[in-house]
Amino acid sequence: MNCLFCKIARGEIPAARLYEDDQVVAFSDLNPQAPVHVLIVPRIHLDSLLALDDPALALAMLNAAKTVAREKGIDETGFRLLTNVGEDGGQSVPHLHWHLLGGRRMEWPPG
Ligand code: AMP
Ligand code: ZN
Repeated sequence: MNCLFCKIARGEIPAARLYEDDQVVAFSDLNPQAPVHVLIVPRIHLDSLLALDDPALALAMLNAAKTVAREKGIDETGFRLLTNVGEDGGQSVPHLHWHLLGGRRMEWPPG
């Protein structure tokens, strides 16, 4: 399948990997929007959050986000965890991913 994040998860395209387990891979965003900007993706291809129905995988991704937040030292200062879905959500890569953003004060509402 010609999917960027599938290729990164399989190691076919290089990325700065920060965490991985049997279900999940996390790597630095190529175009960071904050001092810490990490993407957390499932190894299996899912188009978006709408395709996620495995509770164990959902928890694995959230636990990976917490682990990376702790390793990056933003667990105490705080962070934002979000997933863009579809066109209005601003999703540009059609493989489910959580954005972990931190290291600066986030604004609200988002643009
Ligand atoms: P979204 O717009 O929510 O689909 O997020 C896609 C994210 O993937 C963007 O923040 C991009 O900067 C990031 N991105 C695109 N290509 C790469 C890549 N090769 N390695 C790491 N991050 C990437
Ligand atoms: Zn994929």
